[in-house]
Amino acid sequence: MTFHELQISEPILKAIDAMGFVEPSPIQREAIPLLLQGENVVGQAQTGTGKTAAFGIPMVEKITQQRAPQGLILVPTRELAIQVSGELQKMAQYKKWIVILPIYGGQSIERQIRSLSRGVHIVVGTPGRVLDHLERGTLHLDGVTFCTLDEADVMLDMGFIDDVRAILTRVPDTAQKALFSATLSPEIKTLIEDFVQNPRFVTIPHRELTVPNISQFYYEVRETEKPQALTRIIDYYNPHQTVVFVNTKVRVEELKEKLHAAGYEVEALHGDMKQTQREFVMKRFRAQHFDILLATDVAARGLDIENIDLVVNYDLPQDEEYYVHRIGRTARAGREGTAVTFVTLREIKRLKEIERYIKTKLQRRRLPTLQDIEKIQTQAILDEIASTIEEGGLERYLDILTEGLSHYDSVDIAAALLKMVMGEPEQESLSSEEESPTVRLFLTIGRESVDIKGLLAWISEMTGIRSQELGRITMREGFSFVDVPREKLENFLVRLDRQKYKGKTVRVEIAREKNKSRE
Ligand code: AMP
Repeated sequence: MTFHELQISEPILKAIDAMGFVEPSPIQREAIPLLLQGENVVGQAQTGTGKTAAFGIPMVEKITQQRAPQGLILVPTRELAIQVSGELQKMAQYKKWIVILPIYGGQSIERQIRSLSRGVHIVVGTPGRVLDHLERGTLHLDGVTFCTLDEADVMLDMGFIDDVRAILTRVPDTAQKALFSATLSPEIKTLIEDFVQNPRFVTIPHRELTVPNISQFYYEVRETEKPQALTRIIDYYNPHQTVVFVNTKVRVEELKEKLHAAGYEVEALHGDMKQTQREFVMKRFRAQHFDILLATDVAARGLDIENIDLVVNYDLPQDEEYYVHRIGRTARAGREGTAVTFVTLREIKRLKEIERYIKTKLQRRRLPTLQDIEKIQTQAILDEIASTIEEGGLERYLDILTEGLSHYDSVDIAAALLKMVMGEPEQESLSSEEESPTVRLFLTIGRESVDIKGLLAWISEMTGIRSQELGRITMREGFSFVDVPREKLENFLVRLDRQKYKGKTVRVEIAREKNKSRE
């Protein structure tokens, strides 16, 4: 299923694509259509399931140009307020007029009042601070048409129940409501009864929840492009500390060389190193002397470091159990983490086996492009500039500029500085980026056993894929080629490979260049 099938408008589809989402997650598939139809929704889902987009996409869809808070999102913590507002900002990147404001305790209230008075469309706030603004009269909720409670269970655990109730009584009865919570305790149920009329319940089957706090993604890459894909991932996620799992020590060493050459500080950990050497590397990693560790499975045993926020499976693990062990290196001590897995087309089936073992589906993502990375890095610099301005203490520098560069325009000076800080944009692009819409498959069944009509009928019966959906088909004695749309590939492989046609086992493989030329 694609996002196109969810009745989402063009600017938001464009944003979703820019965010690298390829297909909706289960909670998104269920919740988005309901919310777009105006239903109230209660979703039982944890972090990592894609719940933010599940309510964020419909909310951003529904906001009108009128400058009054129309969307209200209550979240338990300051971090979540910033994160959710950032995520919504990205969803609204092609509806630039939408103003989204995070408000939370600890931030200057005057600044928030100023921003609120300029007019906002969506407020993402912690209950205490939202209530504070309501009582001061600096925030009004009469225009709210869509209200979301995110991580409702955590808000209640943190003792915000009275604040939440006080806020909800000021939200118009007509407003649409969405409530997300990992658990549905009796207290939450009462809250739902009091404030959410006729809710539709959306529950993510328990198996989706096996690894809380870890977002798991996979990227389709070519073997030869893995090093560049890795540097892109690191530049894009900008993690504090990363562990990259590589299947052999030879590959670890090769990758280390490549990353050094590209200017990344990395160290390696593998079974050939002496115990004392290994301990030394781990100690330096723990002390954050470097932030990317390349490791083999054996060497990483017992690696227990709290700050690892990104795990990369540079190679698909040889054993399902290793996958679980590897990704468990992140999200320690209740933190959140991301696990990214590189998969070549040929390994898709292997990935499905791992998914079956861990009872969780990995979300496919598109590799970040150089533009995506530049955008993220630019935003980080702009944020830093803004907070430096807010901090003040610029007099000394203003003096230097007015003396030294008085005949230049101040915006030109700022642009020149930005150019110096950012450097020239990179150009190189990866072929994995230009994903072809179809994949050519090689089937070990040909004209000797079936004609084209029979083959198509069998494919349709086994996979549900109709002949109109398939591309070019070539049949020979003993084998055939079939072009399959990229989004049907997994279905095709899983349902057809090693199945029997009239007693004969048929193998399905991704066609190799060599095979293609045999046509
Ligand atoms: P959440 O559960 O909302 O905290 O989302 C967890 C992570 O998954 C975030 O980094 C999202 O950007 C990402 N995400 C959400 N939906 C999708 C999707 N459909 N495809 C890929 N990534 C997603």
